[in-house]
Amino acid sequence: MIPFNKPYITGKETHYILEAVQSGKISGDGMFTRKCHTFFEERFGFQKCLLTTSCTDALEMAAILINIEPGDEVIMPSYTFVSTANAFVLRGAKIVFCDSRDDHPGMDEDLIEPLITARTKAIVPVHYAGVACDMDKIMKLANAYNLYVVEDAAQAIDSYYTFPDGSIKPLGGIGHLGAFSFHETKNIQCGEGGMLIINDPQFNLRAEIIREKGTNRSAFFRGEADKYGWVDIGSSFLPSELNAAYLYAQLENLQQIQKSRIQIWETYMQGLKTQLSGCGVKFPVLPKYATNNAHMFYLIMPSLDMRSRFISFLKEHKVLSVFHYLSLHKSAFYIDKTDNLTLNYSDKYTDLLVRLPLYFDLHEAEQSFILSKIHKFFDQTL
Ligand SMILES: *Cc1c(COP(=O)(O)O)cnc(C)c1O
Repeated sequence: MIPFNKPYITGKETHYILEAVQSGKISGDGMFTRKCHTFFEERFGFQKCLLTTSCTDALEMAAILINIEPGDEVIMPSYTFVSTANAFVLRGAKIVFCDSRDDHPGMDEDLIEPLITARTKAIVPVHYAGVACDMDKIMKLANAYNLYVVEDAAQAIDSYYTFPDGSIKPLGGIGHLGAFSFHETKNIQCGEGGMLIINDPQFNLRAEIIREKGTNRSAFFRGEADKYGWVDIGSSFLPSELNAAYLYAQLENLQQIQKSRIQIWETYMQGLKTQLSGCGVKFPVLPKYATNNAHMFYLIMPSLDMRSRFISFLKEHKVLSVFHYLSLHKSAFYIDKTDNLTLNYSDKYTDLLVRLPLYFDLHEAEQSFILSKIHKFFDQTL
């Protein structure tokens, strides 16, 4: 069976975990957590990073940091993972869902402005498949209406956005706050893990407090506070050194991992795009301001029925492909809160998008096998 995902292990993970265990310090914010923070700050120029136990947690911290209160409105795509919305719903926010783009599952930036009201507090763009949203448009709107921008960059490590003036910024580093995921399905992973990226320094101190159960423990240990106590709301958002040690081994191999994933992504594109041009299948589109971090390779099928048959066909040939994201505005939890909202593109991706296996260890022969089965499916179908 060719799985949909296989978490890559560089070999150093267990070595670093052992080192953490032997150091006698395995709770959070030890040497490996610091190494991870430094890695991101140096490599991507992030002002401040804080490892968390998940991207979900990083988003929850963001919602607390921007003081989301009951009744506040937060604009985000409907075609996304539940955590994007849940983090804000937990603080009492009303989610205002935006449709996806015609050419891309990311939110349609041109539909955001009409959704802004006096209660709007934040925009949460999701860089779907690691492909940038048009951040210049989004940041301009945020500035004009005095809104916060929290980037859900869960899938977007090592991906960039080019502003119209030519300046380039890493995703997660553009909004006021950003969130990465290191879940085992992501490019760089530690099983479960995440990171909050703080781009607006006004949040630095409070972020540390919220992450440490509402205490000023971090400042106390740096000698900046003479007492350590309860100063704000918060929770336990920091990962243990075991997770950080594992993650650090992955980060040391970032370049190699990315190179391999991009190679696999391009092999899919070259092996399918021209060949399937007459089949009604659509392919990932990269706007010229975006880079490709090869988080995901997907196809947009011509119909739901064809997608179901495609997935079954591949499964019969021992290849696992998957679909995901049921439009959140139609979810059991939110459907009665959205006034019969229709979002055609979000529903289109819900019905038609299918993801192909993509992981570091996918061998050339396996990928050729997958490609031959895909061709066989379309030869039979048409
Ligand atoms: C994976 C993912 C998340 C959640 O990440 P966790 O680390 O599992 O909490 C949130 N948003 C998007 C878009 C994701 O892909």
